[in-house]
Amino acid sequence: MDSDAPSETPPVLIAVENLVRAYAMGPHTVRALDGVSAEVRRGEFVAVMGPSGSGKSTFMNLLGCLDRPDGGRYRLDGQEVGGLAADALAAVRNRKIGFVFQSFNLLPRQSAQANVELPMVYAGVDRAMRHARASTALAAVGLEARGHHRPTQLSGGQQQRVAIARALVNDPVLLLADEPTGALDTATSLEIMALFQRLNRSGLTIVLVTHEPDVARFAGRVLTFRDGRLVDDRRQVPEEVAA
Ligand code: ADP
Repeated sequence: MDSDAPSETPPVLIAVENLVRAYAMGPHTVRALDGVSAEVRRGEFVAVMGPSGSGKSTFMNLLGCLDRPDGGRYRLDGQEVGGLAADALAAVRNRKIGFVFQSFNLLPRQSAQANVELPMVYAGVDRAMRHARASTALAAVGLEARGHHRPTQLSGGQQQRVAIARALVNDPVLLLADEPTGALDTATSLEIMALFQRLNRSGLTIVLVTHEPDVARFAGRVLTFRDGRLVDDRRQVPEEVAA
């Protein structure tokens, strides 16, 4: 690195402050999130861990603008989003966030290419541009030769690559992944983690839920939840996925 160049701290992408999400359960209230505060800067790769019921999904749903908090603040990419109405929240979500799920969530009757083009249909991108960008995204995940295949003609790892291409095609500022290797065997999980590491190194901010320490070791930071609270926030040197 150029010794004259100041090492700039990347800007804060996610800032949550005293975030609360509560559910009424008969006469009781369950605080699925009970006052969570954290910041994530651009370019971080964060794993979210914790036992079942600790609030991980609730946290991810809020970060992903799929749900609204009952208390506290959420600023995403400089914009207050915690208090937005559903329509405005959906617009932020579509513009800024890519999602990857354990079960891939691909449309089974559509080709890989069509699945990747779908978010651009919603975004109003014209057909030629959709085609070009989807092809580029499929190439970026190593599937340039598979665009015409349907999900059932692809392995689990290939299907997850298609889903990752779909998540990236609108150029999100944030990739949220919910147990993305949960349905994959060990070797394929490592391939997917290597892909996430490569995307992260090229600047993508990733927040990934996992219950497996074997997955979390590839992230640069681990947030641990328990009973709706953030009980540990640890930076680590990420392990490299062996080639
Ligand atoms: P995790 O993802 O870590 O398993 P969740 O965020 O799903 O945890 O759940 C946290 C807590 O909130 C749990 O006690 C769960 O039962 C409760 N919870 C989550 N969603 C709802 C809901 N829609 N209605 C009622 N309780 C909920």
